[in-house]
Amino acid sequence: MKRFKKGYIHSVETMGLVDGPNIRVIIFMQGCRLRCSFCHNPDTWNRISKTKLSSKEVVDLIRKYRPYIEQGGGVTFSGGEPLFQSSFLLEILKLCKKAGIHTCIDTAGTGYSKRLLGEILKYTDLVILDIKAIEESQYKKITGRSMKEFDYFVKKINQCDNKLWLRQVIVPTINDNEEYIYKLNEYIKRFKNVEKVELLPYHTMGIEKYKKLKIKYRLEGIEPMNKEKCKELEKLLKY
Ligand code: SF4
Repeated sequence: MKRFKKGYIHSVETMGLVDGPNIRVIIFMQGCRLRCSFCHNPDTWNRISKTKLSSKEVVDLIRKYRPYIEQGGGVTFSGGEPLFQSSFLLEILKLCKKAGIHTCIDTAGTGYSKRLLGEILKYTDLVILDIKAIEESQYKKITGRSMKEFDYFVKKINQCDNKLWLRQVIVPTINDNEEYIYKLNEYIKRFKNVEKVELLPYHTMGIEKYKKLKIKYRLEGIEPMNKEKCKELEKLLKY
């Protein structure tokens, strides 16, 4: 009998409408090496959680929602960083493709196994890639890590044919200005197969989690991003 890999899941959303096309099951996976200052899911950082499932159990769960997701929807793996559990994710993706389910990963392009990345992308229909910053110094300031791993991911994704959505969180006083968007326009020229670029307004809904986990919140005092201003900036995007 086949032994299925087991991994850690944070939570599941069954009627996701924003993380990929149409209605989707969103699987929030556990674990992330980055420490983004604006992260609203610090409870996913740890690799281990109470919910340990096998790849087959995850796919069985997704299949239950088939009537909702088969009209152009599918499953999106988010987190945390879904690539952090690379071999577990790969096995789930293979089973999903076998079952004819559209697959998407919502990733920061880090935490992956270099050995498995190419195969993971082979079984992924859509990649939603979060751009944290476009320059090394700012990237380090925001995430606490070097941009090297992300740069390798960019190289790899450009060698593949996955459809790509790019996302950037807009934070007041950090990147909420036209000059940044013009630089972003230059930066995104390096990606092929870009279908969509979205600016996400920074919000403070995760602050309570930091208090509970006794983690210092680094953006203390910064107001949520004005949604209208964010939409105005989005109009300046070119891709
Ligand atoms: S990559 Fe995502 S989960 Fe990881 S710290 Fe950044 S925002 Fe949080």
